Amino acid sequence: MYNPQSLRAEEFIDHDEIMSTLEFADKHCGDAAFIDGILDKARLRKGLDHREAATLLSCTLPEKTAALYALAEQIKKDFYGNRIVLFAPLYLSNYCVNSCLYCPYHRQNRHMPRKKLSQEDIVAEVTALQDMGHKRLAIEAGEDPAMNPLEYILESIATIYSVRHRNGSIRRVNVNIAATTVEDYRKLKEAQIGTYILFQETYHKESYARLHPAGPKHDYAWHTEAMDRAMQGGIDDVGLGVLFGLESWRYEFTALLMHAEHLEAVHGVGPHTISVPRVKKADGIDPGSFDNGLDDDIFARICACIRLAVPYTGMIISTRESQAVREKVIRLGVSQISGASRTSVGGYADPTPEDEDSAQFDVSDRRSLDEVVAWLMGMDFIPSFCTACYRQGRTGDRFMSLCKSGQILNCCHPNALMTLKEYLEDYASPDTRALGEALIARELEKVPSAHVREIARRNIAAIAQGKRDFRF
Ligand code: SF4
Ligand code: SF4
Repeated sequence: MYNPQSLRAEEFIDHDEIMSTLEFADKHCGDAAFIDGILDKARLRKGLDHREAATLLSCTLPEKTAALYALAEQIKKDFYGNRIVLFAPLYLSNYCVNSCLYCPYHRQNRHMPRKKLSQEDIVAEVTALQDMGHKRLAIEAGEDPAMNPLEYILESIATIYSVRHRNGSIRRVNVNIAATTVEDYRKLKEAQIGTYILFQETYHKESYARLHPAGPKHDYAWHTEAMDRAMQGGIDDVGLGVLFGLESWRYEFTALLMHAEHLEAVHGVGPHTISVPRVKKADGIDPGSFDNGLDDDIFARICACIRLAVPYTGMIISTRESQAVREKVIRLGVSQISGASRTSVGGYADPTPEDEDSAQFDVSDRRSLDEVVAWLMGMDFIPSFCTACYRQGRTGDRFMSLCKSGQILNCCHPNALMTLKEYLEDYASPDTRALGEALIARELEKVPSAHVREIARRNIAAIAQGKRDFRF
């Protein structure tokens, strides 16, 4: 029985409710007046429920698609402005006891070179990432209680935060590790992580069991209820995501929004971020073997519909996607992207061809961070290395109330300019730097508050003199 307030996975991700939602969507998706009603509701910027969003996603009327895309772009601007936050994944270990059929790190893969970074290796990786200009990382590790126990993850987080190379520092570590206990989540919180991210992979229970035939991840309820345990453990910001392509995309999209509604209903705070990865090629993994692939147009519709359904939630797209796809969806509501990623263990400090053999997936966008920064600015976005919110205590419901009232933009915009200035001073090529200085001068004039503008201007001048780490 569907119950968004239940703590049981099968009740807040109720299969019958999803199937009935998809029937509802089929019935109404060709009704232009009905779709207009949904778009009108979305214009209020308070979000959509999963039935409305699923109906909008199913609608292929061309004029409604144009309206959907225009509204998604506008809502993104209203909530987050034109900044795009940059981050990089850092793979700590590819030891894993699970058997996920779509991932080359599964335990049956005997020819995958297994690696686990030592603390010295982590210092080398973080130094290389700092030398690129990164300030925000998402750490990743396979599930292996013997090789990657929580103590290892906690020690690694402390090491990452401790590295200070030239003007570099990692100021926010988001964590993407396997579902765990409330007690472990409490320890992660104490280690000052940013967001806890866990992809559901698929919400379809039967498919989930088939795709995860063995290992602790096989337990659907344990995995699906992880965000509730994380929040019980004090983690305010959690990041959802599904691996699109494993199951029907309409099913996953509906369930993803039901999960967001559940978090809001139980904890009063929806997901901090939603990631939208698609199945990609990797060692022994052929995306074509999963028969639920989605084309770039559907992918773009999904991004736009998420933006309308949960306007307050950050949306993340990784280097799994090509430059062309990223260019398309970045306008439709994506707020965070990875840049210059390596998806192998030890790939930043020592990128070798063998290293590619241990990658979790093929990276489609292989540009350097400097190229990504210049590309964003060329499209009139502000590349941002901001990590201010959790460091200022703006997490959970505090963050959400600022975001829902549209006020977070007053922090995002000047913080983007100040952190971009740091990047230009310390890491940018001469061409990127020239582009960036012009963009900062233009954008400073757009800061609405004269007081904030003056402080930002002063801080940017101080950064040119060698000072670092200002934030609103
Ligand atoms: S997806 Fe995660 S849990 Fe599954 S095999 Fe890969 S690393 Fe292990
Ligand atoms: S001010 Fe907060 S929401 Fe905005 S970019 Fe910085 S950390 Fe993100």
